[in-house]
Amino acid sequence: MTTPMLVASRNAAVGFDEGMRLLREGASALDAASAVVRIVEDNPEDHTVGYGGLPNLLGDVELDAMVMDGRTLKAGAVAALKGFRNPVLVARKVMEELPHVLLAGEGAARFAREMGFEEAELLTDEARRIWQERLTASDVPEDVARYYNHMRRFARDLARDPEQAAKDAGSGVMGTVVVLARDAQGNIAVATSTSGWAWKYPGRVGDTPIPGAGGYADNRYGAAACTGRGEMAMRAATARSVVLYMKMGLPLWNAAREATIDLYALDDEFANVLTLYAMDAHGGHVGFSNQPGRTYVFQTAEMDAPEERPCTFVDADGKAHIRSQDM
Ligand code: ASP
Repeated sequence: MTTPMLVASRNAAVGFDEGMRLLREGASALDAASAVVRIVEDNPEDHTVGYGGLPNLLGDVELDAMVMDGRTLKAGAVAALKGFRNPVLVARKVMEELPHVLLAGEGAARFAREMGFEEAELLTDEARRIWQERLTASDVPEDVARYYNHMRRFARDLARDPEQAAKDAGSGVMGTVVVLARDAQGNIAVATSTSGWAWKYPGRVGDTPIPGAGGYADNRYGAAACTGRGEMAMRAATARSVVLYMKMGLPLWNAAREATIDLYALDDEFANVLTLYAMDAHGGHVGFSNQPGRTYVFQTAEMDAPEERPCTFVDADGKAHIRSQDM
């Protein structure tokens, strides 16, 4: 018997009670991780995930999600799914019912309907208000050239002053929920879900539904998942990299640092925040980021509540810092 645990992005804490209850009752890591993510998807106050998520450039909420089971290395995912509030559950069905890993757009919606998921309006009044305010502030670009400039400006502001840039961008412009779970049998799973970057180009898909980029789980070594600029995690295969570095013999902390260092090799004028969350097969856990001030949450079955921990910040020289004053 191993001690069940959850490791996650901070916004997942609202689902930890339920996730822990399930794990304590003997549920699988996959069930627990999906249950936590589902609660975040249903939370209208979280503007980065599921119902209440901020929309794309045109005002449509497009959702990405994935599950991966570290016992079988099976994965299921949906991308750019519109009109269903729990993409993580649809992703799970893709894994279970189809010989495929990823369904996108119309096909994903058709499949969700076939599986009996109920259609729902995802754009809440609050999310519509935020979107419209940004439109009238006229910095939401409606064509490709302006979109490109807008993203570049944001990346530059962020490089100059990360805290101010995040404030200027408004709440919930970026964000994803990622949950890594380990159950009493020692099985490990990952579940992820996001509405992607607010005002994203229609059809844009990030790392969240891509196994190996936004999440990866392998019982033999551990699991990892990412939040932040998904394009970076896709190009560097960040979640898989962490697990592969462990397979090649690095301890968890060094594996996560190495995967963060890899991000600096990306030639990327839109370079931005990328945070990774990882656990090894023995219950070790870390958060790492290429930006200071990030945190993650974890809880074992022996704890009463989740605890928040600082992520280790790795700078462009590969130096690792924990800036506890940023907590
Ligand atoms: N990783 C997500 C994406 O690129 C968004 C985020 O976590 O901020 O879609």
